[in-house]
Amino acid sequence: MTQKPTIAVIGAGLGGAAAGALLQQAGYDTKVYEQAAAFSRLGAGIHLGPNVMKVMRRIGIEEKLNAMGSHPDYWFSRDGKTGDHQSRIPLGSVALQEYGAAYITVHRGDLHELMVSTLDQERLHFDKRLVDIDETGNKVVMTFSDGSIEEADIVIGADGVNSRIREKLLGPEAPTYSGWVAHRAIISAEKLKAYDLDFEACVKWWSEDRHMMVYFVTGDEKEYYYVTGVPEPEWNHGTSFVDSSREEMRAAFAGYHPTVQALIDCTETVTKWPLLERNPLPTWHENRLVLLGDACHPMKPHMAQGAAMAIEDAAMLVRCLEDVGAHQYQEAFELYRTNRFERASRVQQVSHDNTWLRHDEDPAWVFGYDVYEVPLKQPASS
Ligand code: FAD
Repeated sequence: MTQKPTIAVIGAGLGGAAAGALLQQAGYDTKVYEQAAAFSRLGAGIHLGPNVMKVMRRIGIEEKLNAMGSHPDYWFSRDGKTGDHQSRIPLGSVALQEYGAAYITVHRGDLHELMVSTLDQERLHFDKRLVDIDETGNKVVMTFSDGSIEEADIVIGADGVNSRIREKLLGPEAPTYSGWVAHRAIISAEKLKAYDLDFEACVKWWSEDRHMMVYFVTGDEKEYYYVTGVPEPEWNHGTSFVDSSREEMRAAFAGYHPTVQALIDCTETVTKWPLLERNPLPTWHENRLVLLGDACHPMKPHMAQGAAMAIEDAAMLVRCLEDVGAHQYQEAFELYRTNRFERASRVQQVSHDNTWLRHDEDPAWVFGYDVYEVPLKQPASS
């Protein structure tokens, strides 16, 4: 084979969009298949730390994101009841100087739209739900729910927590419900002007068994967002989210600080999501198939690093394909796994424990990471 292998990415979420964009930029004939008919601007925000902004720089959208996002000077942790500081983690200019890129918070839909716009639109296929995959020949044959069949040399499973590719590699197994839910709501900052309270750019309110993370999702600070972590023993709804209510929020955060009560008072709509996890997987790749992001390491979102790990994975996978030579894809996949497993598993664990930045600590191991500069570790067997 003289040409680069053809690649299919299953899933155009944040990890799949990053993989597709980076592969296409590196000259791979890459098609991206997404089950959804289209994406909508669901009410949710996301943190993008310097570690992920370095990948955005490579994709070519760092400046647009910097213009789009809110740039908090600190991550504050506060006692949910008294409001006392538990930590003040410097971001802002410190992030730029110490970690090499900005720390921003954005609307997830705006980020996703921008990332998807970097893909070759002719090679992005919506309404394509992968239902079957056959890799017994010298190409991978993919069957989609509309009956269409496509082929590729390599298939990347960026298909999220219920990954079909993971199932092909490891057999059917539902993710574990963590026993926690997240409520998500976007609030108009205009409404908050009625209160003589300080609404900080990035703050997490904590008590023993629950929390509320709050931040702006637009650079003009017109949209404020909260996402919670609240224990709920069972999730039997059978859907990826349900509607919640102001009353439910009041009950969940009874006794919390007046600032939190103001946020609840200003809530118009709020949704509730189950938080799903898996233990670290024994296999990330086999033959022509490889996994990234939530397909191989879904986690509680309590470090705000799940998408960051998916995007770092995408960047490391492309780096390894280029480093080894893409026709030796199995070696490249093992190099990729070797260089991602430990970090992704550590982030999964800290997210599970929900200890991140609760008290002052040095976040450099997360934010200072540069997927393009970190020396590559060789797999044990080579
Ligand atoms: P996904 O985003 O789940 O994308 C998978 C894509 O694959 C989807 O578009 C899906 O439709 C598609 N797909 C699935 N199956 C198929 C199929 N069979 N065929 C074709 N397409 C398919 N992370 C952060 O970094 N920062 C945060 O602040 C943050 N906050 C979060 C808050 C909450 C409440 C939650 C639940 C998560 C949060 N995360 C955050 C985590 C983050 O959302 C995920 O880790 C991230 O979306 C994973 O990206 P992914 O591309 O691997 O998977």
